[in-house]
Amino acid sequence: MSAAEAANELSVYQSMAARFDVAAAKLQLDEGLTQYLRSPNREIIVHIPVAMDTRRLRVFDGYRVQHSFARGPCKGGVRYSPNVTLDEIRGLAAEMTWKCAVVNIPFGGAKGGVVCDPAQLSQGELERITRRYTAEILDYIGPERDVPAPDMNTNEQTMAWIMDTYSMHMRHTVTASVTGKPVDLGGSQGRREATGRGCMISIDEALKRFSWKRQETRVIVQGFGNVGSEAARLMHEEGYKIIGVADVGGGVFNTKGVQIPALLEYAKENGSVTGFPGSESIGAQEILEQECEVLLPAATESVITSKNAHKIKARILAEGANSPTTPPADAILFDRGVFVIPDILANAGGVTVSYFEWVQDRQGYFWPELVVNDRLKNIMVAAFDEVVHYAEKHKVHNRIAAYMLAIDRVAFSVKLRGIYA
Ligand code: NAD
Repeated sequence: MSAAEAANELSVYQSMAARFDVAAAKLQLDEGLTQYLRSPNREIIVHIPVAMDTRRLRVFDGYRVQHSFARGPCKGGVRYSPNVTLDEIRGLAAEMTWKCAVVNIPFGGAKGGVVCDPAQLSQGELERITRRYTAEILDYIGPERDVPAPDMNTNEQTMAWIMDTYSMHMRHTVTASVTGKPVDLGGSQGRREATGRGCMISIDEALKRFSWKRQETRVIVQGFGNVGSEAARLMHEEGYKIIGVADVGGGVFNTKGVQIPALLEYAKENGSVTGFPGSESIGAQEILEQECEVLLPAATESVITSKNAHKIKARILAEGANSPTTPPADAILFDRGVFVIPDILANAGGVTVSYFEWVQDRQGYFWPELVVNDRLKNIMVAAFDEVVHYAEKHKVHNRIAAYMLAIDRVAFSVKLRGIYA
């Protein structure tokens, strides 16, 4: 593989586009419509001046890409990382459109990011970055336009700052301007766990197809942040055997099962899962290649590529992270008979409960956690069944089926609305 091909494999936008092209061709989508749906609606680039604690001024680059509002306001997370690029945000924004359509909620897709390293920033600096970023994109966001949510290295506090900045400009409190807020500020019960819970629900559905029992199912989780830790905690509670967990610092492994509640405490105190007593150490990439029934990458993109896909031993790959698998790896996994629950289905629990949060904020009426979890389960199970049914009917693998289902829904809305001239 040439250097250019390798870079292409790792491009989140190229990965999305490659899958989109296959699905659009299978759907025999009109050429002009294909071009329209493949391109983002709007890309915003901002350069954010921020007074650092030292009083020195620094400028950070930020992005917000709005891929589609054909089915409703745009929806998508904001990530903070030194590795954020426009290409990545563009790809993730499109994936959000497809994800919202797979679970059939009335949103289009967006994504945002700021190029910064939160580990090197104080809380005050992070707050000033967040507020200025919000102010720079203010005209393009809002409950009816585009609703940000947390993603890598952003959290409930970040959302509270965005909501407050937006509200100050509107001169009244607009809780529906973001989701993933603290519950005390109009957040939804169950949102924090929603992505991890959604992963578990889709894995439960896959297990039924294999007639496996949770107690006999060994699981490996890469990533121990919001998605990975909540998925591991819930799955441990429901009887799954979590035999390996990794974060950016490295992994821990125990074939008898890792005690997740103790690991959560340990990681909170030590800032990493590494060195957890009673377990073996293992590399964060190496852990993906271990024997297990379910592999849950819930950390970052492009961790399963053409280089390591043939070493994956899991029977079920549930993608908690966005875009953890590259298209060349898809083909290898398919040939090896791995049952893939693609990201736009497996991790759609987060955006689904974000939708519930937006609905509750707009109604000013909040639902108990059991209602949230129950409605989440109904949506996830229906979407899982639809994707698997589509795959069987069209003789494609689950990822292409999920893209086909989503593109079909968005294309239908575009056709109904027509193109504004
Ligand atoms: P997070 O920042 O809370 O946690 C990320 C975790 O991954 C951390 O434990 C970190 O140490 C680990 N990590 C990072 N790079 C790693 C690497 N190379 N190897 C091993 N571990 C690594 O982020 P999150 O919100 O849990 O999001 C994780 C993934 O899930 C991202 O791809 C995100 O886009 C996706 N996602 C998140 C949500 C959500 O609701 N938070 C919803 C859908 C998808």
